[in-house]
Amino acid sequence: MNFFKRIRHPEGPLSPGNFPAGKEYGEPTIDLRPLDSEDAQFMRIALEEAGMAGKEGEVPIGAVLVLGGEIIGRGRNRPISMADPSAHAEILALREGAARVKNYRLPGSTLYVTLEPCVMCTGAILQARVGRLVFGAEDPKGGAVSSLFSLLEDPRLNHRVEVASGILQEECRELLQRFFRERRQKNLTAENAEDAEG
Ligand SMILES: [Zn+2]
Repeated sequence: MNFFKRIRHPEGPLSPGNFPAGKEYGEPTIDLRPLDSEDAQFMRIALEEAGMAGKEGEVPIGAVLVLGGEIIGRGRNRPISMADPSAHAEILALREGAARVKNYRLPGSTLYVTLEPCVMCTGAILQARVGRLVFGAEDPKGGAVSSLFSLLEDPRLNHRVEVASGILQEECRELLQRFFRERRQKNLTAENAEDAEG
């Protein structure tokens, strides 16, 4: 009864920290992780979008919509700057893509997003008839694909979306963690300054 296919990629991207020092162990290291897979390449572009969102003071989440191997929409999280609760990366990428192909249905498209989509975005993915969703990090606090809810697996909804998760998940997660860490530090610094003034 499993209508949709879940592909979980092996952990993490290559970085100096987790790159196994093959020669020291006398074995050449062949890394089969999908660093240069098409999915990873598009996810890197979604990560660029996420980075821009972070620089703008938004929670760093980015999305890219691909159809026929071409990017037709990009989006970054912008609810604060747009004063719009629906201005999530996925929604903005879907809007741009739909406008470009002049169709609110986007069958055969693949949506790449750095963080597991929320309830609203998962709903939009279903509305748009997106064919495939690829996300990086899981969102235990708000994810509607596998964490809090499994909306795309609900057999009562008749559209099926193929899901791949864990693509560049370390980078996606690290970007978010760094953002929140820096924000906490800024808040602490501001509090300290207030205390000193007070
Ligand atoms: Zn969302």
